[in-house]
Amino acid sequence: MASDNIYIGIGSNLGNRMENLRSSIAHLQNSLIDVMQISSVYETEPRDFCDQDDFFNLVARISTSMKPVQLLNTINRIEHALGRKRQISSGPRTIDIDILLYEDQIISGKRLTIPHPRMHLRSFVLVPLAEIAPQTIHPILRQNIDSLLAVCKDTGKVNKLFEHEAISQ
Ligand code: ADP
Ligand code: MG
Repeated sequence: MASDNIYIGIGSNLGNRMENLRSSIAHLQNSLIDVMQISSVYETEPRDFCDQDDFFNLVARISTSMKPVQLLNTINRIEHALGRKRQISSGPRTIDIDILLYEDQIISGKRLTIPHPRMHLRSFVLVPLAEIAPQTIHPILRQNIDSLLAVCKDTGKVNKLFEHEAISQ
């Protein structure tokens, strides 16, 4: 049985950022994952480690019958295929794919934490997520994405670059 309400965040700040987002989506679609919805693409300021280029970010809703850890393995393989080297955590990367929400599951493991532990603190996640899932409830904080965005204190700039249709063209 496929799970339909899985949200992932994708970011890139090295190389051709738009092309990297596009190829990551193509790779997902070739890996038993249906991409159901894609947000607009935003240009965003780096947060944790600021001396690096701006990111392109988007959020997608996907459907897959893979369990969370299988999905993480697939995502790690795609990151690797797209030339991501394990460098400094939070540093520049060709592609970063994070699992934000997997239905209403709460997972706290060595390799995988769901919901993503920092998603509610990052406007580059909440802004695109609010575009496609404003009413979705965060299973731990028990508030919807619109409400989390309204109280988010992250002041990093998040500028819409392309409407959501642009990525699939
Ligand atoms: P970050 O995205 O925090 O900058 P990385 O992409 O290098 O850092 O991820 C580091 C590790 O985070 C991954 O190897 C993965 O096992 C772990 N991880 C934990 N929870 C998640 C999640 N929800 N989505 C993606 N990776 C996760
Ligand atoms: Mg990551």
